[in-house]
Amino acid sequence: MAWDFATDPDFQAKLDWIADFCKREVEPLGYVFPHAVRVPIPKVRELVRELQDQIKAQGLWALFLDEELGGPGFGQLKLALVNEIIGRYPAAPQLFGAAAPDTGNMEMLAAYGTEEQKERWLKPLLNQEMFSAYSMTEPQGGSDPNLFKTHAVRDGEEWVINGEKWFTSAGRVADILFVMCTNGMFVVPRNTPGVEIQPEPRNHNHIVYRDVCVPLDHLLGPEDGAKVLAQRRLGGGRIHHAMRTIAQCKLAFDMMCERALSRESHGKIIAEHQMVQEKIADSYAAIKMLRLLVLEAAWKIDNTSTQEARTEIATVKYTMAKVLREVSFNALHILGSLGTTDLTPIQEMYASAPTMGIADGVDEVHKATVARRVLADYRPHEGYWPTEYIPAKREAAWQAYEPRFQADPELRAAAEGYRDYLKQRA
Ligand SMILES: Cc1cc2nc3c(=O)[nH]c(=O)nc-3n(C[C@H](O)[C@H](O)[C@H](O)COP(=O)(O)OP(=O)(O)OC[C@H]3O[C@@H](n4cnc5c(N)ncnc54)[C@H](O)[C@@H]3O)c2cc1C
Repeated sequence: MAWDFATDPDFQAKLDWIADFCKREVEPLGYVFPHAVRVPIPKVRELVRELQDQIKAQGLWALFLDEELGGPGFGQLKLALVNEIIGRYPAAPQLFGAAAPDTGNMEMLAAYGTEEQKERWLKPLLNQEMFSAYSMTEPQGGSDPNLFKTHAVRDGEEWVINGEKWFTSAGRVADILFVMCTNGMFVVPRNTPGVEIQPEPRNHNHIVYRDVCVPLDHLLGPEDGAKVLAQRRLGGGRIHHAMRTIAQCKLAFDMMCERALSRESHGKIIAEHQMVQEKIADSYAAIKMLRLLVLEAAWKIDNTSTQEARTEIATVKYTMAKVLREVSFNALHILGSLGTTDLTPIQEMYASAPTMGIADGVDEVHKATVARRVLADYRPHEGYWPTEYIPAKREAAWQAYEPRFQADPELRAAAEGYRDYLKQRA
């Protein structure tokens, strides 16, 4: 029977290398050159390339892609173990070529692109010679894709796109935009005439697509296939976020424990106060539960498919936001006034927790998905009483025993005597 929580030694060696590399190289890089991968200064680019060469030499580049799609083919479980290390360092996902939104867009290209599309866009994205963004949400509707209106019309050898998108992360600095239209997913170079990026919001852009013309071969996947492509993209994205959220929760937990042991109040170190201990114990359990949930979801994806693991992925999605909220709040609270400042990562982490409940689909929608899918395995009971109604169960049990009682009157007498004794006690 296979039931194992151990990591095989070869892979553990890789994880140890990643943990050491992140502490030694990635953390300082993040402090000196935030967003280093996107910094155009030649000296910084050189530094980034040098670090990325080390990552590539370890076979750790583009970890999220299956082997046949150009990655190392780790699968989701191993990826989860990697992400729960690199998720601690803001600079790491980009440095490892594993940062959203490019990862999801590359997954779509790898799975649905023609050879020519892969050559034109996937290769440069993999090599970070190009960056992308994903335009799905619209100003009038986010959670419900049936409200989306952006549409492409075929005109001779071109598609003409019209519509408006909201919250396209890093759209302003992307080279190409993956635009979800009601009739397909299109790749649109950002500098195409008619792509109008609005001044606000600054980071997650509001983009008007006005008579944007792209050649026919900029349609990705089948016509009318946008929802299938979007599911493929978001399924992976959600679980990757969850894996990195574990890392954030662990960071908060480490900070909480260290501080609890370092401060004193009312005659003892604060770790000795029971209400502080409760926060530590609750946070510990919450992180463990989240981690097991994420690893099991990842395992299920590896052994079935993203589609078949939809219940698990959706469960992970809203649970990670809740655990991050609870654990980062506990950490912030235990750090006291320091926790409320921007002098540690805690305040930003706590502030980002509500965002986790909205990005990649609001929690309510995922909860509804889980409830709907779980309920599909149940049926209403017949008659007035639920299946576990005790008087009916007891009656059925006596009936089941009747043949034995008929064969053995002493057993019947024992049962009746025992029943009377219990009645008396009640
Ligand atoms: C950090 C971040 C990055 C993002 N990046 C991108 C990106 O790169 N590209 C992109 O296209 N989009 C992106 N989004 C947008 C994201 O996909 C949407 O925010 C999300 O789908 C929700 O849509 P909305 O914001 O319009 O909220 P709405 O759909 O208006 O929902 C608002 C609230 O209404 C309630 N609600 C909605 N539907 C239901 C329901 N069915 N049941 C119960 N309650 C409900 C919930 O309380 C919900 O929080 C990003 C969002 C964030 C926060």
